[in-house]
Amino acid sequence: MPTAGKVIKCKGQLQMFSKLSPFVVFYQIKTVHFGWINMVLCANSLIGCWIRAAAVAWEAGKPLSMEEVEVAPPQAMEVRVKILFTSLCHTDVYFWEAKTPVFPRIFGHEAGGIVESVGEGVTDVAPGDHVLPVFTGECKECAHCKSAESNMCDLLRINTDRGVMIGDGKSRFSINGKPIYHFVGTSTFSEYTVMHVGCVAKINPEAPLDKVCVLSCGISTGLGASINVAKPPKGSTVAVFGLGAVGLAAAEGARIAGASRIIGVDLNPNRFEEARKFGCTEFVNPKDHSKPVQEVLAEMTNGGVDRSVECTGNINAMIQAFECVHDGWGVAVLVGVPHKDAEFKTHPMNFLNERTLKGTFFGNFKPRTDLPNVVELYMKKELELEKFITHTVPFSEINKAFDLMAKGEGIRCIIRMDH
Ligand code: NAD
Ligand code: ZN
Repeated sequence: MPTAGKVIKCKGQLQMFSKLSPFVVFYQIKTVHFGWINMVLCANSLIGCWIRAAAVAWEAGKPLSMEEVEVAPPQAMEVRVKILFTSLCHTDVYFWEAKTPVFPRIFGHEAGGIVESVGEGVTDVAPGDHVLPVFTGECKECAHCKSAESNMCDLLRINTDRGVMIGDGKSRFSINGKPIYHFVGTSTFSEYTVMHVGCVAKINPEAPLDKVCVLSCGISTGLGASINVAKPPKGSTVAVFGLGAVGLAAAEGARIAGASRIIGVDLNPNRFEEARKFGCTEFVNPKDHSKPVQEVLAEMTNGGVDRSVECTGNINAMIQAFECVHDGWGVAVLVGVPHKDAEFKTHPMNFLNERTLKGTFFGNFKPRTDLPNVVELYMKKELELEKFITHTVPFSEINKAFDLMAKGEGIRCIIRMDH
């Protein structure tokens, strides 16, 4: 039986769940942290399976559908988290549109929530802890986690093809016994989700989750791509390709690092005015020029920019971002997630002329170790997050967040799970 509250009534939906198990009992309980919770107690399990709303993608590119999903208890080294706020990142949209075999699926990876229960062996977090899910985990044991230079954990690095938990190869989500697949180990478009403990960063409980949830992916990624990877010297010139949330965070990072010229490059001119708030000083729309954008940038900067950060996911922009850096010292950083068949083509001479090309996941931050400190930057008012949040919708209207991104409107849309 759950210890956090008392059973007050049986909801009379036994019939609906009797297909799952003849011993299933359906309860509604009130808990200290989580309010009213519908719960199924399975005959063979003391921790219940929650039946809660989740936005399920049944097919590629089709609007998400609100469903009652059974969320199984966390197994060894897993945690079950009540998601309070989540937001939409372009990576969700890309894999929602992609015709992969991993459907039906629950997307979502940028979020904030509270740990509800933990599985065997979990000691780092406890019920009630405030956490940010992270799509690329940190086991703290492998060679990557032990290296100061890498955040590419052997066990928990991003895997967009996997739709199940790594512990037993099964999904923790189901509808009438049919599995619904996970996405990048997080699946935050659900009132409850189950994650490996290595994919949650425990943060300061004072931090407002409706703001710091955007640090769980996009903003940390862009910020880290500049500060940790591109490392622009003071007074340098930086080009940022793509002025969505990730690119604007990269511009913010370049400004914090002391860059004096930050050139925003985007095909959508509606992005430009807003981008000034994030440190962009000049803008280039490739559509306004007949010559390649790398030539336009070389002319503007006496031979090339010192650093460039690509945040579009478009292969042409990736090539342009590399070819626009100055020979001798220029560094380009790729952040966008490319199409699976994309090929990066450039002349090898561009490398011989001492240009450097790098790529990064999550801005090279180690999620569990570093993310709490990024949250503290916000708490100390050294990092502003409010300006990234342009829209808010209730969970029931999650498809509006997809429409906004498709139209290129706004930066981040927060999805409130309590509505
Ligand atoms: P977004 O859709 O909000 O922004 C992308 C911007 O790029 C848009 O303003 C668009 O107009 C612009 N753009 C597209 N093609 C362009 C081109 N050829 N030239 C110039 N501008 C172009 O997306 P977002 O949420 O900010 O994410 C940006 C990218 O970063 C996506 O590819 C996403 O998948 C990726 N991402 C990567 C990581 C990582 O760890 N590497 C993490 C999060 C997101
Ligand atoms: Zn690891």
